[in-house]
Amino acid sequence: MGTRTVFALSFALEVVEIILCPVHILLRRGVRSNESEINAARACGPTRYSKLRFQSELRHESFAKFMKHYSNPALDLAVIGGGIVGLATAMTWLQTHPGQRVTVLETEARVGQHQSGHNSGVIHSGIYYQPGSEKALLCREGKTKLEAFCEKHGIRWEKCGKVVVATDPSELNSLERIIERADLNGVEFRRITTDQLRQLEPSVAGVDAIVVPETGIVDYRSVCDAYRHCIEEMGGSVQLGFQVQHLDADDSGVRMAGVDHNQSSGKFDIRARSAIVCAGLHSDTLVRQSESDASRSDTESLSEEVRIIPFRGEYYELRPERRGLCRNLIYPVPDPAFPFLGVHFTRMIDGNVECGPNAVLALAREGYRWRDIDVRYLQRTLGYSGFRRLIQKHWRKGLGEMNRSLRKSAFVTALQKLIPELRASDLIPARAGVRAQAVRANGELVDDFLFRSTPNVTHVLNAPSPAATASLAIARRVIEQHQNQNPNS
Ligand SMILES: Cc1cc2nc3c(=O)[nH]c(=O)nc-3n(C[C@H](O)[C@H](O)[C@H](O)COP(=O)(O)OP(=O)(O)OC[C@H]3O[C@@H](n4cnc5c(N)ncnc54)[C@H](O)[C@@H]3O)c2cc1C
Repeated sequence: MGTRTVFALSFALEVVEIILCPVHILLRRGVRSNESEINAARACGPTRYSKLRFQSELRHESFAKFMKHYSNPALDLAVIGGGIVGLATAMTWLQTHPGQRVTVLETEARVGQHQSGHNSGVIHSGIYYQPGSEKALLCREGKTKLEAFCEKHGIRWEKCGKVVVATDPSELNSLERIIERADLNGVEFRRITTDQLRQLEPSVAGVDAIVVPETGIVDYRSVCDAYRHCIEEMGGSVQLGFQVQHLDADDSGVRMAGVDHNQSSGKFDIRARSAIVCAGLHSDTLVRQSESDASRSDTESLSEEVRIIPFRGEYYELRPERRGLCRNLIYPVPDPAFPFLGVHFTRMIDGNVECGPNAVLALAREGYRWRDIDVRYLQRTLGYSGFRRLIQKHWRKGLGEMNRSLRKSAFVTALQKLIPELRASDLIPARAGVRAQAVRANGELVDDFLFRSTPNVTHVLNAPSPAATASLAIARRVIEQHQNQNPNS
């Protein structure tokens, strides 16, 4: 067979594949097929279907050239993780790269099912963070962008303000430090007298306080749904039920393979020119997978640098008839060493008032309850030097948090520091969220956001609070880093 004939045949086969791939998947799955599955089929490009079928038929030397053409990455960008950070990243990429082929791969059946859908719903002002840090800068930028996005897309949000209350003279120094940071971070605030505090929040007891008028509330699940909608409107796709288990990157692109939960025994295998990983509680797992590639040998091992330790945050909510105890957001002065500790009162956008969260070690990555236990994960965590050092340093704090988790009365006592008239009977148990917190091998909690790039892949390794507020700024920041490291992406 002559070379020209082979290339003519190649062209014909390409056309056939484009038609057959979705049809084949439709037939295989029958009427359960939906639009996202067809998109998945399109994203596959050089499917095993066509490779297997035609490989056996054409064994000419020119066929190698033909396959090389097929092995070109089908996607321009794959984003792993359909939480608020991954969705914001895919959406921002499409805004700046119109027409490119972008897909979000999300293991769950809905977007925003983990941290992004289990948080306090606060649009943070950025008051607490170390001035000049990524958190401080991206929170401010992200807040403005998020508010504009909500306005544009009709998402309900409110700038309700919050009070930060010192309940004891021993907290006054910490309050002063917060005030200094507020100035440096450019956050608007007012110092208020105890009388003014009582006017704003009549049930709160405090010795000193500030009010931060620009803090807001929103339902981040609605934000995730809106990001997803925008991605699809711009021609991108969000593949739900796609769990990435293998991530191999080299200079020519990235291959992602894993389980398609939409079908029993389903598997997928997708190539992209590059990928951005925003896998939250699993971000370190995916780093390890991409490190198996030879191109990582000359660089420091990311998975040895940090590991994700999941901390569950449990909430109670006020009985509807007691919601008057909290008008807006009531926060204690945070401990600078543990800014995410300290239970608070949060009025949610639906009117509910949540109280919490605490922070206890989760026994599985998605350990929303004490009974959610992953033995293999626990073995790995207990064997990690960073975790053991963390426990050695902070076991007292840890026990206090566990006590508040196991004994409602201890939780109530912590809340009563802010609202003394609160009673255990005012509270009903509510949902929990699990924070993905990166911990270094020396036992330090990674305080700031952490982004790392390897060839063709950028990892969002640490994106705890305020990453929901900052999602659009994180997206901008991560995309810039990704493109600087991979100019051809
Ligand atoms: C209790 C709590 C309260 C908080 N309160 C606030 C707040 O009030 N304001 C604020 O700004 N921030 C808050 N945060 C922080 C904020 O919610 C998170 O920082 C943010 O949601 C992180 O988003 P993410 O997309 O990185 O992670 P996630 O939302 O966890 O998303 C990661 C996604 O990746 C998917 N995934 C993982 N592995 C794979 C894989 N192998 N293949 C495919 N998909 C995969 C997961 O299913 C998940 O959907 C809070 C967090 C918690 C836990």
